Amino acid sequence: MSKQTLTQLEQHELFLTRHIGPDAEQQQQMLNEVGAESLNDLMEQIVPENIRLGRELNVGRSNDEAEGLAYIRQVANKNQVYKSYIGMGYYPTTVPNVILRNVFENPGWYTAYTPYQPEIAQGRLEAILNFQHLSMDLTGLDLASASLLDEATAAAEAMALAKRVSKAKKANIFFVADDVFPQTIDVVKTRAECFGFDVIVGPAHEAVNHELFGALFQYTNKLGQINDHSELFAELKAKKAIVTLAADIMSLVLLKSPAALGADVVFGSAQRFGVPMGYGGPHAAFFATRDAYKRSMPGRIIGVSQDTRGNRALRMAMQTREQHIRREKANSNICTAQVLLANMASFYAVFHGPQGLKTIASRINRLTDILAAGLKSKGINSLNDTWFDTVSFESTDLEAIKARALAAQTNLRYDSDTQFGISLDETTTRDDIVQLFDIILGEGHGLDVDNLDAQVTATASIPASLERDTEILTHPTFNRYHSETEMMRYIKRLENKDLALNHSMISLGSCTMKLNAVAEMLPVSWPEFANMHPFSPLEQAQGYTQLINELSDWLVDITGYDAVCMQPNSGAQGEYAGLLAIQKYHESRGEGHRNVCLIPQSAHGTNPASAQLAGMKVVVTACDKDGNVDLDDLRAKAEELADSLSCIMITYPSTHGVYEETVKEICEIIHQHGGQVYLDGANMNAQVGITSPGFIGADVSHLNLHKTFAIPHGGGGPGMGPIGVKAHLAPFVAGHTLVKPGRESDNNGAVSAAPYGSASILPISYMYIRLLGSKGLKQSTQVAILNANYVTKKLSDHYPVLYTGRNDRVAHECIIDLRPIKESSGVTEMDIAKRLNDYGFHAPTMSFPVAGTLMVEPTESESKVELDRFIEAMINIRKEIAQVEAGEFPADNNPLFNAPHTLEDIMDAEFDSRPYSRELAVFPTDAVKANKFWPTVNRIDDVFGDRNLFCACVPMEAYE
Ligand SMILES: *Cc1c(COP(=O)(O)O)cnc(C)c1O
Repeated sequence: MSKQTLTQLEQHELFLTRHIGPDAEQQQQMLNEVGAESLNDLMEQIVPENIRLGRELNVGRSNDEAEGLAYIRQVANKNQVYKSYIGMGYYPTTVPNVILRNVFENPGWYTAYTPYQPEIAQGRLEAILNFQHLSMDLTGLDLASASLLDEATAAAEAMALAKRVSKAKKANIFFVADDVFPQTIDVVKTRAECFGFDVIVGPAHEAVNHELFGALFQYTNKLGQINDHSELFAELKAKKAIVTLAADIMSLVLLKSPAALGADVVFGSAQRFGVPMGYGGPHAAFFATRDAYKRSMPGRIIGVSQDTRGNRALRMAMQTREQHIRREKANSNICTAQVLLANMASFYAVFHGPQGLKTIASRINRLTDILAAGLKSKGINSLNDTWFDTVSFESTDLEAIKARALAAQTNLRYDSDTQFGISLDETTTRDDIVQLFDIILGEGHGLDVDNLDAQVTATASIPASLERDTEILTHPTFNRYHSETEMMRYIKRLENKDLALNHSMISLGSCTMKLNAVAEMLPVSWPEFANMHPFSPLEQAQGYTQLINELSDWLVDITGYDAVCMQPNSGAQGEYAGLLAIQKYHESRGEGHRNVCLIPQSAHGTNPASAQLAGMKVVVTACDKDGNVDLDDLRAKAEELADSLSCIMITYPSTHGVYEETVKEICEIIHQHGGQVYLDGANMNAQVGITSPGFIGADVSHLNLHKTFAIPHGGGGPGMGPIGVKAHLAPFVAGHTLVKPGRESDNNGAVSAAPYGSASILPISYMYIRLLGSKGLKQSTQVAILNANYVTKKLSDHYPVLYTGRNDRVAHECIIDLRPIKESSGVTEMDIAKRLNDYGFHAPTMSFPVAGTLMVEPTESESKVELDRFIEAMINIRKEIAQVEAGEFPADNNPLFNAPHTLEDIMDAEFDSRPYSRELAVFPTDAVKANKFWPTVNRIDDVFGDRNLFCACVPMEAYE
């Protein structure tokens, strides 16, 4: 037998065969089916000649998993994880292991999609509802949202809400107290500039001297002082200003609720509830306000409704407020948020319960008392005379303190040459306090924690008037699951209600639900990535710096741009950041008056929402009957608006799933008229290695790393939306007040709280690229296109495909038109979506970008077997529809109309009166029988939920 050599054997691209669903033989079968000889032949049939990249990618060869992990291990080792007392919104925390393993590291939780199909998402909807309940209990307000991106962007959202609801209609000033965290002020200023608001930063008490629509304060301020501004708040409110308040979630366990002080909006980071710092994220921000402002809330809200059986069921409430629907009139551009992290924080509260949280918070406060008392006994008085966990000091000896801190691998907060601060957290120990004494006083201070603990009996670090006087988290959910067994089962019970990628394919058009490989995910949990504070000195973050630089270089190669900005923590934030860069560029050329943003009709809702955030005027351009940008209309508008044209926002391949032939021309037209081209990169999965936005001629794009580059969706977040820019825009991307690696753009305003957004999930995209390499990335794109065309081909005999490009092909996704079916049978796209749940599938994207359609994007990761199962389900469903058309089933009593079916349905004796069998209802094919997913509720009533808006945990009586 002739043996293959070692070299030949090692040439097998191991990870590629793990990442890509169909093997070589199946790819060939599928190519035969669609009528192409090879992947290259298929590309030639589909991708317009003038945009085809004439070169291979240059991101290196593929690594196998072991090699890739060994490499990133080296990178991780370059991060020096010092003990952090920096605080400023980021605190070490202990992730309960039961949550780490069963939620954070569990594909049942992290691969789920945003719960747009609530019947198969009741688990995470309950977890988010718990998060909202927690937010409402701690803030004392009536209504909370399902999570925002971070504390600083939440502050910007609070300002925008204040403007919407304030009755001080003429006021244009937003006041920010100067003791708010600097990164928060930075992000607020950036946003205010776009809106044209005047921001005044000053001592809190000066707020009353101005005519304001709103003001921002921080409850425990940046020095640690606990502010009681209730009288000030009352005065401001008398002047019709909206009072917004940043608060620390852990301190709220002990402190009087901000609502009791009079705040109208309260927000903050939920990071220290069991989510690692991760060099800046991802973490969830909580956001709560008064019921009266519910229509102005940014982000999503989970609400309680009922299903067709009258059973309680959860869903996203008031979706009509969302940017998808309201576009430039939306409250915010938030799309992907931080669901996975909000769930972790809510589980942390469920696991510890009110007593456990009180113990944790009290212990932190007690340690701070002891630290302050010890230092005071040595003549070092803190600047703040009240505190929860943070004390700040003046010292003329700061250099020596700094040196001792560094020697002890410890970071304090340094505000100036003479001022520093210390924030404690749940991981702080007695020994840590002794070490802090050593650092600040030098050794030989003679202080003893046990002695201090015994001596310091009464302290008023939390003023009596500001102690919490209400119970928190009395709801049974927060009082039942404190043993690990109960907690594990609660998490599992919820997980079981949700369909995620570990059950079946989620073919969501525009959202690219591809494999999130374990080898890509593993490093995220490593302490070297998880436990870095975002404002650590750069020397300690060499691993992150290398990772970010290498990843940026790769993304530069992949996108054809010149530079990448890693700050935006979602695609929509990337849009916002990119549009700001465009505006600043125009300003730099004396053309700051350019403010019109052209957006084709078919655009994703975040595009116009972001343009509005960036202070632009949106002008919609038409699409022709084939779904392409109507070039004549575009040319006419570009000409007419040439003097005020800022940019265009296009998506490529278009949201209609085709490679428009004219995309280069579109770029040229815009450039001719002095505009810039923003290319929405959500569809990069059809570009990588085949073409690129830079090559096409665009100036800036965001990348959804949580779509194309393998970061999981987490049930609705986290995400990362870095932007690529051409060189002329590079000086105008987001900077940061605190972290300055020495780039041109460092002094620009920030768009996120942390300099590199949700840095700790970057290893996922990094590993994705390293494991696939240049060839693998390209092949992934090709197979994504093959898979989409295979599904299209197989379904096209049964359903009309709405748009196709050259040679009647689609790109990486296809839109199935259900409107003719609705016409002939009365069966709606919703019925079909819900019926797919009975077949064990998540519905594809519904009614975007065209109402009455489904957009299917299978991705390269789905095998032929899985595609065939989906195709079988869709064809079967078409047969069921035919039976409705033929009158065999009544229009209002058939397997589609009644979908999804639950166990309760088939246990119901009344089922006998239905014109179809139980078997057809729940086991329509053998494949389903072998791997049944049970939706836990019937179809949910949206209208009922909005009319009876309820966004907290349901009172227990309701269960009885
Ligand atoms: C997903 C998507 C966005 C928004 O990205 P987020 O990360 O959800 O903010 C923008 N445009 C298109 C076309 C998308 O598919």
